[in-house]
Amino acid sequence: MNRFEWVDAGSVEQALASVSEGSAFKAGGVDLLDLMKDGITTPPRLVNIRNIKGLDQIGEDAHGLRIGPLATLAQIEEHPAIRNKYTALSEAAGRAATPQIRNMATVGGNLAQRPRCWYFRSEDFPCRKKGGKHCFAQDGENDYHAIFDNRTCAIVHPSGVAVPLVAMNAKLELTSKRGKREVLLEKFFITPDQDVTRENILQPDELITQITVPSSSARTAYYKQGEKESFDWPIADVAVALEMQGARCNRASIVLGAAAPYPYRAKTAEAQLAGATITEETARAAARQAVANATPLAKNNYKVPIFEAIIRRTILRAAGENTQGAVA
Ligand SMILES: Cc1cc2nc3c(=O)[nH]c(=O)nc-3n(C[C@H](O)[C@H](O)[C@H](O)COP(=O)(O)OP(=O)(O)OC[C@H]3O[C@@H](n4cnc5c(N)ncnc54)[C@H](O)[C@@H]3O)c2cc1C
Repeated sequence: MNRFEWVDAGSVEQALASVSEGSAFKAGGVDLLDLMKDGITTPPRLVNIRNIKGLDQIGEDAHGLRIGPLATLAQIEEHPAIRNKYTALSEAAGRAATPQIRNMATVGGNLAQRPRCWYFRSEDFPCRKKGGKHCFAQDGENDYHAIFDNRTCAIVHPSGVAVPLVAMNAKLELTSKRGKREVLLEKFFITPDQDVTRENILQPDELITQITVPSSSARTAYYKQGEKESFDWPIADVAVALEMQGARCNRASIVLGAAAPYPYRAKTAEAQLAGATITEETARAAARQAVANATPLAKNNYKVPIFEAIIRRTILRAAGENTQGAVA
């Protein structure tokens, strides 16, 4: 690992004042230090934001949920209001990684972590994400790669909690010396065609300072399918949020993780469920629709039926007792 300078920031202002050319903010350090050890990033200065007081707080009121970026995945999983009212978020946080990592990993760092593509993570492959001309996953070992929007770069977005947060229309507050801006999380993430070297709009001198989730009556559920049902990233995950009136769904959000280079909203399936009664049949049809336009690569076609099955199950779980007829 290259030598680097260490700066401990005690406040957001200090953190922003400590930014220098090529510096990086360190929260839990789980992803950043991995990238540094692998030689993928070599910041000359680390600005440690981990101990900034107040940025790890979670609050809830009639307007919704406010989550500090330094709240850990463990805090999010265990928070009573998140468990009760924002269930899919608690489930996604609780299914990520291992208990040790969930105690260390922050939600801000989780949203900004870099992708796990093994070509990106290896110094030996000058892929497009690192300024090269080629996406090695196209004709390579693409078992874990994207099944949507995968032609420019086939990474899958790695954050589990991003999936329910996008389904719940979460917003981020981003703070820099220029001031604050608020962005819808869905718009925070960008496509490879917008800029293949980045996954989001965050500027190097900008901090995520708050995550807000608007209050909603939607019922939510999350499902993660791992390869070994162990501690690894998902091979497929999905979050569903349904605004229900009895068995009728007024509005649906269906967001897929590990499917595309960003949390992928299954818009035609969402439209299909809006106004429909949730039954085994309508859930199955929406799940089929959600994967209808998938463009799997040579080795990841297996993901398509997995997604179809977990989308159907998660729609039915989110609808819960509001489902009409039998639940599979
Ligand atoms: C074995 C293993 C299994 C894992 N499984 C999963 C999984 O199933 N699902 C999942 O989602 N994740 C998984 N992870 C990833 C892990 O959850 C992330 O690495 C972690 O959440 C990153 O958070 P951090 O606080 O350590 O971020 P850091 O490593 O400190 O930072 C990551 C990036 O975010 C930036 N950053 C951090 N905080 C801020 C902020 N407030 N504002 C602006 N930029 C910021 C940093 O500059 C850096 O670029 C796994 C990791 C391991 C090692």
